[in-house]
Amino acid sequence: MGQLNTFPLSYKVSGQRIVIVGGGDEALNKARLVTKTTAEVVIISRHIEADFAALGAMPIQRGFSPCDLKGAALVFVAEESPDAELAKREARRQGVPLNVVDVPHECDFYTPSIVERAPLTIAISSEGEAPVLARLVRARIEAMLSPRIGKIAGLAGSLRKKAEALIHDNAARRRFYETLVTSPEIELAEAAGRGAAAAEALLAQHGEMGGQGVVWLIGAGPGSEDLLTLRAQRLLQEADAIVHDQLVPDAVVEMGRRDAERISVGKAKGHHSFSQAQINTLLVRLAGEGKRVARLKSGDPMVFGRAGEEIAALRKAGIGYQIVPGVSAALAAAADTATPVTLRKVSSGFIMATAHGADDSDLDHWASLAQSGLTLALYMGKSVVSEVAGRLVAHGASPALPVGIVVNAGRSNRSTYSGNLRSLIEGDVTLAEGPAIIFVGEAVAAGDWADAATLQAQSFKVVA
Ligand code: SAH
Repeated sequence: MGQLNTFPLSYKVSGQRIVIVGGGDEALNKARLVTKTTAEVVIISRHIEADFAALGAMPIQRGFSPCDLKGAALVFVAEESPDAELAKREARRQGVPLNVVDVPHECDFYTPSIVERAPLTIAISSEGEAPVLARLVRARIEAMLSPRIGKIAGLAGSLRKKAEALIHDNAARRRFYETLVTSPEIELAEAAGRGAAAAEALLAQHGEMGGQGVVWLIGAGPGSEDLLTLRAQRLLQEADAIVHDQLVPDAVVEMGRRDAERISVGKAKGHHSFSQAQINTLLVRLAGEGKRVARLKSGDPMVFGRAGEEIAALRKAGIGYQIVPGVSAALAAAADTATPVTLRKVSSGFIMATAHGADDSDLDHWASLAQSGLTLALYMGKSVVSEVAGRLVAHGASPALPVGIVVNAGRSNRSTYSGNLRSLIEGDVTLAEGPAIIFVGEAVAAGDWADAATLQAQSFKVVA
């Protein structure tokens, strides 16, 4: 890291005077900045050209006099004139910090770009090196922060004493503030003028709950950060502990708070590093310690995510939980290949089914799947594609029924295969590394399986 030539700080100006020497647009720009404060703003120039009325400021039309700086906190010189020269000299003589607009080497201080949500202020400075970058950064921050965040920061400030009296545990109190400033409900209440009451209610609730833990079952989507929901992102940043599966990529886990405890329960197919019972116990233990636990699952937590067992364990232990949906792999695969899984006159529905029985035992759903006439989205079938196709045909599906496979759906390294049940039974299919969704049904033909041709040209070999 380089070293700073300036030091950012928040300077008290309340009850003091800020003097601007100048009456043109540059003076107006500075006036716009400083009239955001509660300081008395004095604008002096022999030539008042800009319209200061909208700012509620009354410029004084006259020459500058040294006594104008008496008790001034800051002075801006925003014109070139003998008055300006006098003001600069006087500022230096009287020790009033000076800013000469557009003349960096004459300045004692610069004004950063400001994102203002009083009392919250964010100042962005490039020490004059890259004002365009500073403006871009500012625009991003503007977009990120709700216009009401300042009001909510004010609520937090006004509840400080009460929060200290009601919630003794530091971590629990931090949680209260985090919820207060990030909750969409509070924001809505604030917009409706009920912010104070909603904040009090939230505080009472946190006071009662004490440091009680909670488990959020969060769908992480198919593996790209930008397919995470905003709610998932928010809760990840609130969580004290993140318990995630193997299939959730690091980039998503990284979105959690930096000091959150991260536990991979690595349930990759084949090697169960944690048994389901151990995961259940872990969740109950962490929440029992008062932690807020993000249980991150790939796709949607309620689809082949063993959520049922985890929820049962949490209910039994009396631990609060909440579920955040995610984009399930089949839906990401449909999007990747522009496959309408439901299609008028072709497929009146779609079925998400597993191709793999628990403990490798046989499944009894093949007959109903084969005869459904609906689009099938088969999960966990990559290592058994030929068997799957064989079973469907054995139960009456046409060998000509279209098939499409998407490996790494929703990720940048996605790849596809298209064919039909017969080609799966006959050919050896080589698929890339990664999880896969197998689509079967007439609607698959309506998709855009563009790079399927190149995949089909390869020699097909099933890889587990
Ligand atoms: N809850 C997850 C499914 C977990 S089961 C969801 O809703 O998506 C694991 C199976 O999901 C894998 O065997 C594979 O069939 C599928 N899967 C998960 N992520 C995938 C991805 N990015 N691309 C294709 N299939 C995926």
